[in-house]
Amino acid sequence: MTATTAINAITDPASEQTRLYEVCDYYDAESLLTGDERRILCRLRSFLDEKARPLLADHWERGEFPTELVQPLIDLDLMEPAELTGAAAAAGAAGADGAHVGAGSVPARGIYQGFRIFELARTDASLATWYTSQAGLFRTAIRVGASAEQQREWMPKVIDFSLKGVFSLTEPESGSDIAGGLSTTARREGNSWIIDGAKRWIGGAASADVLAVFARDVADGQVKAFLVDRQADGVTLEKIHRKTSLRMMQNAHITLDGVRVPESMRLHNVNSFRDVAAMLRAMRSDVAWIAAGVQAGAFEAALRYVKERQQFGRSLGSFQLVQEKLARMLGNVTSALSLVVRLTEQQAKGIYRDQDSALAKMQTSLLMRETVALAREVVGGNGITLETDVARFHADAEAIYSYEGTHEINALIIGRALTGESAFTR
Ligand SMILES: Cc1cc2nc3c(=O)[nH]c(=O)nc-3n(C[C@H](O)[C@H](O)[C@H](O)COP(=O)(O)OP(=O)(O)OC[C@H]3O[C@@H](n4cnc5c(N)ncnc54)[C@H](O)[C@@H]3O)c2cc1C
Repeated sequence: MTATTAINAITDPASEQTRLYEVCDYYDAESLLTGDERRILCRLRSFLDEKARPLLADHWERGEFPTELVQPLIDLDLMEPAELTGAAAAAGAAGADGAHVGAGSVPARGIYQGFRIFELARTDASLATWYTSQAGLFRTAIRVGASAEQQREWMPKVIDFSLKGVFSLTEPESGSDIAGGLSTTARREGNSWIIDGAKRWIGGAASADVLAVFARDVADGQVKAFLVDRQADGVTLEKIHRKTSLRMMQNAHITLDGVRVPESMRLHNVNSFRDVAAMLRAMRSDVAWIAAGVQAGAFEAALRYVKERQQFGRSLGSFQLVQEKLARMLGNVTSALSLVVRLTEQQAKGIYRDQDSALAKMQTSLLMRETVALAREVVGGNGITLETDVARFHADAEAIYSYEGTHEINALIIGRALTGESAFTR
């Protein structure tokens, strides 16, 4: 039996009576979803199981993204599903969620949006990262950084993917210390800006229309943001090869050499790194959902495997030492899900602090690392082949552990909040 059948056997997405996450959502967090939201997630489940899962192992091995999934995924209308925007309008709520949230809050449909990421990540971390680069990173850049007028023009195109964008912050020489170390420059010349510098690790850049590039204004030393046409003169993209994690996701090294950007393409509400920090706060919550989903996927695959595989004349799952590992995995997944659900509920109420999303990202990533390692372990030798999903989850977890703030950086954000003392050295 393949891992794919194993996972499908756990739930029946076609039936509304059946729990979506019967095994991995032990305390029934999915009961917070509305019927419409569940139906949309069922649609996503069917698509992932039927169209995406069969492609994953081959594409992972080749280090290629399954581009044939892109348009069908967009067509699923997950970002602002018509059912939900219609319901919100009927209830007197704001329609598009970008329209009623400011820099410090998240959309009211946060639990649905979280489970949407969870569902993608439970299938594959690269698919979740690809989707989140538009629905999370780029959308957040526009939501927080664009003026009201710019949002009116761009947000509908972000939502229907007719304007694809990526978040270009990290640099070759500055990752964790990007706030102080950011060295890409922006120089104003009349009604244009000239951008020089380099960006590294930018996910999905090769297929984007625009790159949201963060650069330091040489005039006032403050960080500003620009939507740079990917095909503009002076923009060079190089694929980062030989990755051992998130192999399907394409990451780029970007060189910006005298790139001219009109003032109209500057994000008018980004005037310092504080505005970038507001974006990172929102994005870290999404990554915590990815970390929860990845471990749910690994746990489910491992559980099914140990029920099937026989050794010493009995199923692996009948051994006490294996059951202890299953219990730890379930405990981790349940803790991670509880954390992200509660964080999302707090944020939906407008309670929105750096240390909260840092804690969720740090802790879910720690739990994820242990869960995927235990999943790999109980699957034995087959756990290092792509024939079982656990190997892919195990490898992909490492990138998630490091991106959107490493363990140490998130710990320092929490430590600063606890003690009132910043341990960052600049
Ligand atoms: C797959 C992938 C996708 C990514 N996608 C994007 C993207 O789309 N856009 C984007 O802008 N960026 C992206 N990134 C970049 C990512 O956010 C950075 O990799 C991350 O911030 C860490 O930076 P770094 O890799 O340069 O590590 P470094 O900053 O060099 O850190 C190396 C190690 O040193 C530790 N360290 C650093 N400073 C301290 C300190 N003060 N105290 C203790 N320990 C410390 C770190 O925690 C880490 O363990 C991506 C990265 C990866 C791997």
